[in-house]
Amino acid sequence: MTTFSLDPGPDQIAVRDWLHGFAADVIRPAAAEWDEREETPWPIIQEAAKLGIYSLDFYAQQFFDPSGVGIPIAMEELFWGDAGIGLAITGTTLAAVAVLANGTDEQIGTWAPQMFGTPEDVKVAAFCSSEPDAGSDVSALRTRAVYDQAKDEWVLNGTKTWATNGGIAHVHVVVATVDPELGSRGQASFVVPPGTAGLSQGQKFKKHGIRASHTAEVVLDGVRVPGHCLLGGKEKLDARLARAREGAKGGGKNAAMATFEASRPAVGAQAIGIARAAYEVALDYAGTRVQFGKPIIENQGVAFQLADMKTRIDAARLLVWRASWMAVNNKPFTSAEGSMSKLYAGETAKYVTAQAMQILGGNGYTREYPVERMHRDSAIYTVFEGTSEIQRLVIARAISGAPIR
Ligand SMILES: Cc1cc2nc3c(=O)[nH]c(=O)nc-3n(C[C@H](O)[C@H](O)[C@H](O)COP(=O)(O)OP(=O)(O)OC[C@H]3O[C@@H](n4cnc5c(N)ncnc54)[C@H](O)[C@@H]3O)c2cc1C
Repeated sequence: MTTFSLDPGPDQIAVRDWLHGFAADVIRPAAAEWDEREETPWPIIQEAAKLGIYSLDFYAQQFFDPSGVGIPIAMEELFWGDAGIGLAITGTTLAAVAVLANGTDEQIGTWAPQMFGTPEDVKVAAFCSSEPDAGSDVSALRTRAVYDQAKDEWVLNGTKTWATNGGIAHVHVVVATVDPELGSRGQASFVVPPGTAGLSQGQKFKKHGIRASHTAEVVLDGVRVPGHCLLGGKEKLDARLARAREGAKGGGKNAAMATFEASRPAVGAQAIGIARAAYEVALDYAGTRVQFGKPIIENQGVAFQLADMKTRIDAARLLVWRASWMAVNNKPFTSAEGSMSKLYAGETAKYVTAQAMQILGGNGYTREYPVERMHRDSAIYTVFEGTSEIQRLVIARAISGAPIR
């Protein structure tokens, strides 16, 4: 176990400075263009791949960094550059984490590298859990997985929605129900390999923010995948389902929830990146914009806004670093500290970007300045990876043990 420290070591500082350079020189200047285009910024993903920023090795190194701050630092810097491009670069990791959390060593070795491709031929991956009638209520998934024993294949049918990289991904990870009567305990995750017949993209969503990140429906129509595409393997699934049918407590880990739990602090760190970016623009603006014969920051009303913004950003970062350190060091999340970090960081990003717009006055409302984009981008952070209300539900249940609905 590594002691929790707020003092990043030389390795973490080197990674932070390297990513900050990429965010400042490559991501930030391209942010407005890709926001307008609402397309996946493939050239930027490729550039990140060439530098090793978009690679399995890089994320694995950060993910297993025992200090726990590897991933939060990386996310904060990339999203400080721009959240839409940041998500285009890091969206694959959600699917990779699903394989890491639920797959066997062989499955991890097979699928995780394919999700990223190579610098010459970059690929992305998608994690498909949400459905039109199953968003917050993950137990309501309708996508079915039926085992065809004669062929040792699983047959997947259903419609997924809101999938980041859905349809454009090389590898899709799909959460489906094997036994609907068991709710979330009857679910499992499957890899759908590249080029599998029956998987197609439905509508691509036109969004409020993070517009450089592709979000779409994924239709699964008689999709057949080999038996070895069931993450964790059939033996483990059968044992888990048997325990659940017997009504045993803890008779099966919910595949989707396990993935979300592992990724929440990282999502919080993305929100902090957006918040810090907007705060910096606002601080700079307040120091130079003159009204009534003095910089507007000399008004206590403006200065106090900036003080609150900075305080909340730093508080959010502390929660994210703690939760990330706990995850890496296998500490039990007895008070749902992962959810706490995502809740507070997401709400902070929305608050700070709104305040930044206010400090920039009319300019804040235009696309000449980046804070309106940052505000649009921030809004997703109280929605995806569990809404703020769902984070509160998880925290409230953890601290009370009560069956709060
Ligand atoms: C841009 C984007 C990218 C996404 N990427 C992915 C992805 O890659 N993969 C994936 O699987 N999903 C993804 N999602 C889906 C996302 O996780 C869901 O949108 C989210 O979980 C909320 O589900 P919902 O939209 O169905 O809202 P609903 O669950 O319908 O919620 C609607 C409102 O009701 C509230 N609510 C619901 N239940 C309760 C309750 N019990 N108590 C209090 N309030 C409640 C919610 O907080 C919310 O405010 C993405 C979504 C978006 C918009």
